[in-house]
Amino acid sequence: MVSRSKGEQLASIEICVPKILKRPEHLLSRSGISPNALKVLYRLHRAGYQAYLVGGAVRDLLRGGRPKDFDIGTNARPQEIKRLFRNSRIIGRRFRLAHVLFQGEIVEVSTFRASPEAPESPEDWEQEKGEDAVDESREPEPVDPYGTPEEDALRRDFTINALFYNIADFSVIDRVGGLEDLEAKIIRTVGEPVSRFEEDPVRMMRALEYAERLGFDLAVETHDAIHQCHELITEAAPARLSYELMETLRSGSSSGILRKWQDFGILGRAFSDIERDDERMWEVLEILDRRIAMGGRFPDATLIGAMFLPRFMEIFTEIDRRADRFSNTELIERTRDFLDEAGASMHLPNHVVHLIRQGLFSMTKLRREPTRGRQVLKLVRQDYFPVAWDFFGLATSAGYFDRSIMRSWSRALDRVRDTSDDGAKQDQNPKSKDDKGEGASRPSRRRRPRRRRKV
Ligand code: ATP
Ligand code: MG
Repeated sequence: MVSRSKGEQLASIEICVPKILKRPEHLLSRSGISPNALKVLYRLHRAGYQAYLVGGAVRDLLRGGRPKDFDIGTNARPQEIKRLFRNSRIIGRRFRLAHVLFQGEIVEVSTFRASPEAPESPEDWEQEKGEDAVDESREPEPVDPYGTPEEDALRRDFTINALFYNIADFSVIDRVGGLEDLEAKIIRTVGEPVSRFEEDPVRMMRALEYAERLGFDLAVETHDAIHQCHELITEAAPARLSYELMETLRSGSSSGILRKWQDFGILGRAFSDIERDDERMWEVLEILDRRIAMGGRFPDATLIGAMFLPRFMEIFTEIDRRADRFSNTELIERTRDFLDEAGASMHLPNHVVHLIRQGLFSMTKLRREPTRGRQVLKLVRQDYFPVAWDFFGLATSAGYFDRSIMRSWSRALDRVRDTSDDGAKQDQNPKSKDDKGEGASRPSRRRRPRRRRKV
């Protein structure tokens, strides 16, 4: 542990004196908060509990941005939250918190926490609990992990993520200097950075993620502490690393974030299977980012698989050049070799690995002009076809395939859709009216809204 100097100790006392911006003194408007999150805030408040909007939503609203999701902090205990919201369930092992479920949105409600330690792994919080989750006898033992709003602000990762919006009087509360850092565009850990990174090394990745996504600078001490602590990343739970990677790939800033992880020596230590020296891997990520910035939405298999596309194409080209007769078996085996290994070390679910493998392989079937309608139909009916189509779009943009072939396939897919009276086929056709250009992702089917890991 790093000892604190007198100055630091004083500083940590000072930061507990909150700065409160009254309603007219800030620009956070309720109209920016989702109606569901507002409903939850008001119901908690009317039931006599403290209720604050917390975390990234406050940060984004104060900057005039649109939050990805809305998190609420309260002094109500998980089982009290559960009683108040019939549409809620409790998740997490050690730190139980409530998800209030709405159509297309999950509002996360967590009881103020005292503990600054690392969050649980997604494996723990993602699992759904049965009725026994509300059993009081199963409250986390032995110490009460819940705390005051002050403690809850101090256990958060960065100052800009530790701002609270109070639904009782619409004020913004800053106990850590977050408003100043937001204004100056600075990412700074709450508290002494080395110990915060020792406590939870994933925070180093998150610091670089925010710096890239928001275009902020790292505070000098935070920057130096990442240099000092970067090797600790190997101690983080693999499921948390993969979770952070997925969020990054989804963000539309993946190439910039991964480069920052690379610059600080984190990327190779966290994910040894990513071919970070392959320029083509970076090129594909940039294409992916552009598509996401244009509104494209991709399944996890496409996002992760995109990073392996260049390696797959290398194997494919090698076999294609060498053999008189193309060996599908060799391609499948060699793909399986590297993908299964990467899948295991990155803790990817088997079905994702399956979709990547099949998607890459089927993509190669698209390299020639479509011939018969039946061939097209057979292909688009496969569950992995949307992923194959995404890969084909990315690979075509990266110059691996001829654009004219992609256009032929688009037309063939349109024909299949037009001539088909079976609605299900239409659903499987990835080329749709609101397609965002060549090879853009199809509109994704409804699925449960995804949430970031919470603490
Ligand atoms: P995003 O816009 O990506 O959702 P966010 O700031 O809301 O960003 P989340 O991952 O959704 O980030 O987490 C919500 C809040 O929980 C953060 O703002 C932060 O206050 C707190 N938090 C998340 N992860 C950690 C962590 N590893 N250590 C401490 N606090 C954390
Ligand atoms: Mg969030």
